Amino acid sequence: MYDLIIIGGGPAGLTAATYARRAGKSVLVIEKNAFGGQITWSPRVENFPGFVSISGVELGDKLLEQAMEQGAEAELEEVTAIERGAEGFAVRCESGAVFEARALILATGAKPRMLGVEREEELVGSGVGYCAVCDGAFYKGKPVAVCGGGNSALQDALLLSESCSQVWLIHRRSSFRGEQKLVEALEKKENVRFVLDARVTALLGEEELSGLVLEQNGASKELTVEGLFVAIGHQPDLGAFVDFLKLDPAGYAASGEDCLSPTPGLFVAGDCRAKHVRQLTTAAADGAVAALAACDYLDRL
Ligand code: NAP
Repeated sequence: MYDLIIIGGGPAGLTAATYARRAGKSVLVIEKNAFGGQITWSPRVENFPGFVSISGVELGDKLLEQAMEQGAEAELEEVTAIERGAEGFAVRCESGAVFEARALILATGAKPRMLGVEREEELVGSGVGYCAVCDGAFYKGKPVAVCGGGNSALQDALLLSESCSQVWLIHRRSSFRGEQKLVEALEKKENVRFVLDARVTALLGEEELSGLVLEQNGASKELTVEGLFVAIGHQPDLGAFVDFLKLDPAGYAASGEDCLSPTPGLFVAGDCRAKHVRQLTTAAADGAVAALAACDYLDRL
């Protein structure tokens, strides 16, 4: 039995692992996709303290290396359920593996929000994508669209403008929510066009995406694109843990300042936690707070 299992290997989970190991606890981090989490989708991170500029993949690797260096263990598994026992928690994985710990930190982050347009799911991988860093190279020399107005959409549009023939940045408002510096960089790109006050209402193409129908200021218009990158934020994925948590109306896990959930010994950290600011820095901060609170809980058992 481990002292602490951390579910989710993004910045929150890996920071928690480093802190708990340095407090002398045995730690297992379980991640279902890629260690580093959502940040591995960011081409360039320029707002994490200590790094003027670093790719998300490299930052994720460094966070993992740091936790491993401190002696944390790691497993690539998908957690399907947790159970409360007399001595702590059992963590059940899709492979059939079961791990046990006296305390848990949920740092499961959030998954991309879908547009909700008809045929969106059907065209995923055939023109519709949620990760420009992962899939952008497939659209070299082709026209694409990015939908969204936050930093993710702005960064995706910048990245795609380096290789795609044309990038349409579609946003439902007249101004962007993301950083002005990124907007200015996009304004200087000749192959980037903003389509503001617009919504995607339909996806065109049979087996592959060939275009979009937009509604802009009450009028309908078509755009010819081969790729659509949806970057309209994220939503938490806490379905496997709902019996142990209190969720806010948007589905995020409520907790105290110490990241403790309503279940003793179960802590939440990072983007899956109900809070106002979701940034790399606040995810890392949550990881530290949750780990120290979990260590305090373990010491008092
Ligand atoms: P976000 O900031 O929540 O922005 C989501 C955008 O999508 C908003 O502009 C929103 O429009 C739009 N949107 C939401 N639902 C929509 C819908 N159904 N249809 C059309 N548009 C919709 O999400 P994000 O860009 O993924 O960023 C998440 C957080 O990560 C932010 O705090 C961001 O600063 C941070 N981030 C940081 C970095 C970095 O540090 N390098 C990189 C990427 C992201 P409205 O504006 O109208 O609400």
